[in-house]
Amino acid sequence: MTIYNLGSINIDHVYRLTALPRAGETISSQGYALGLGGKGANQSVAAARAGAQVQHLGAMGAGDGWVLDKLAAAGAGTGAIARLEGVATGHAIILVDGGGENSIILHGGANHALPPTLLERDLAGIGPGDILMLQNETNLQAEAAARAHAAGARVIYSAAPFEIEPLRAVLPHVTILAVNEVEARDTFAAFGEDLPVEGMLITRGAEGAEYRDLRSGQVWHQPAFKVQAVDTTGAGDCFAGWFAAGLSRNEDPQTALRHASAAAAIQVTRKGAGDAMPDRAEVMAFLK
Ligand code: ADP
Repeated sequence: MTIYNLGSINIDHVYRLTALPRAGETISSQGYALGLGGKGANQSVAAARAGAQVQHLGAMGAGDGWVLDKLAAAGAGTGAIARLEGVATGHAIILVDGGGENSIILHGGANHALPPTLLERDLAGIGPGDILMLQNETNLQAEAAARAHAAGARVIYSAAPFEIEPLRAVLPHVTILAVNEVEARDTFAAFGEDLPVEGMLITRGAEGAEYRDLRSGQVWHQPAFKVQAVDTTGAGDCFAGWFAAGLSRNEDPQTALRHASAAAAIQVTRKGAGDAMPDRAEVMAFLK
């Protein structure tokens, strides 16, 4: 059983500043960190560290080989990541002031230039038992969802960042919709409570998470573990990646939720997004 993840790859440039710059102002940063981000890459790292077999489908610029090394080091397959000439790797410029307030510039770059070969060649082998993960940060979402769904695979879609039209296009092919509390509210407001999906994973930050089987009406709840959070960037991706990894090993929803919650609790105690994802040994030790 393979988790295919057609998703964004971003490089996060994080600058610490005493104050955010105003128009026309030049200021020096007090600190800089470079990290792996993008909802797609974050979820691939999370699922691979959880022990799942993961194939990442995506695109980047021609440079930035260290990004592939990081994905591969986490255990994710990188052979289906296209390297595009003349296009920038997706990246985020993240400015954080002394009070923790931030301003972010996101450049999607190669994430919006995914080539159709990812569907025709790299998704050709997907079938029953496999999972396709998707988020709203790339092109080809709906095409990939339709193909995976037609092949009998389960499709897990993170409706983030939330946008009505992309969600409308993928929704008929989605098995499980993964959303945080705000995205859940926006989804119900736009599409009603009667969604055409099998299940919904709803995360509520420090309040925990739940999985709803919309066919049977059964709901599984999982409280968040109490930890000292230092950076919650990527917490939802960590949760989604671990939950998908659980489903790919045929875990029941409660077990998958519990492991995902522990993984996300560890993740928020560390700085960074993709770089902060825990591995299976850490999660099992946390739960002892
Ligand atoms: P997103 O990052 O998509 O907004 P959430 O904020 O809902 O997602 O967080 C996802 C999951 O991460 C939560 O369901 C919870 O398990 C875990 N989490 C997030 N914040 C905390 C926190 N402060 N303490 C412990 N766990 C947390």
